[in-house]
Amino acid sequence: MSTPRFADFQRILFFTGAGLSAESGIPTYRGSGGIWAEYDYEDYACQRAFVRDPEKVWDFHDKRRAAVGACEPNDGHRIIAEVQRERAGTSVVTQNIDGLHQRSGATGVVELHGSLWRVRCDREHIVRDDTSVPMSPRKCSCGAYWRPDIVWFEDALDQRTLERAHELLASCDLLVSVGTSGVVYPAAELPRIAMRSGATTVEINLDDTPVSPLYQHRLRGTASDMLASMR
Ligand SMILES: [Zn+2]
Repeated sequence: MSTPRFADFQRILFFTGAGLSAESGIPTYRGSGGIWAEYDYEDYACQRAFVRDPEKVWDFHDKRRAAVGACEPNDGHRIIAEVQRERAGTSVVTQNIDGLHQRSGATGVVELHGSLWRVRCDREHIVRDDTSVPMSPRKCSCGAYWRPDIVWFEDALDQRTLERAHELLASCDLLVSVGTSGVVYPAAELPRIAMRSGATTVEINLDDTPVSPLYQHRLRGTASDMLASMR
C-alpha cells in the first residue's frame, strides 16, 4: 500500500504523543531517560503530593516550565500546523502538555492531559492561561493555591475534553497517530473509534507498538521525516 497523502483527505486528525516532542528535546515520561525514572511522581505529580506540599510541586513544575520553554517546535509540529492552515477540516488531539502545537501555529488543539501553561484554582476550579516562569503568584485571589491544569497521575481525564476527542475521531477521514506509545489510556482506545468509522489510519513511530497491528499504514522513522513523506 502506498503512503496516504494529506491532499487526498478533507478531515485529517493528528493524534500526537511524546514521540513528536522528543525531537524538540522534551523529555519523555516513561522509559529510560524519562523524567519519572528520575523523579518519583508520588512526590511531584499527583494531587496527594500537591495537598501535602504545594511549594515543592510548584518548584518541580517551574523546572519543567523552564525546560519546555527553552525548547522549540520541530518540523513535525510545523507540518501539522501547515496542513491545518491548508485544510480547514484538520484537527489535533494531543497527549502532550508542552504547548508546542500552539507555538507552531496550530489552533483548537484538544489537550487530553491538560497543559503546563494553564493553571486552575484548587478551590474554585477557575482555569486561566499562565506562561510565567517561575509561575507567580502561586496563590489565587481567593487564597487557595493555583495548581497546574495537568492531568496528573491518579487524576481522571476531563470528560468534556474526552468527548470532544471522540467527536473528532468519529468524523475524521484520515487518522495520523504520531509518536504515541499506544499503551496509556486512551491512546489505545481512541484510534479504534476512527477505525470503526472507516477512516484511513496511519501510525508514525520509531518502533512497533502494541496497537500497531490495528493501523492500515505503519510508517517507521522520526515524526518530522514521516510527516514530510505524506505531503
Ligand atoms: Zn481561587
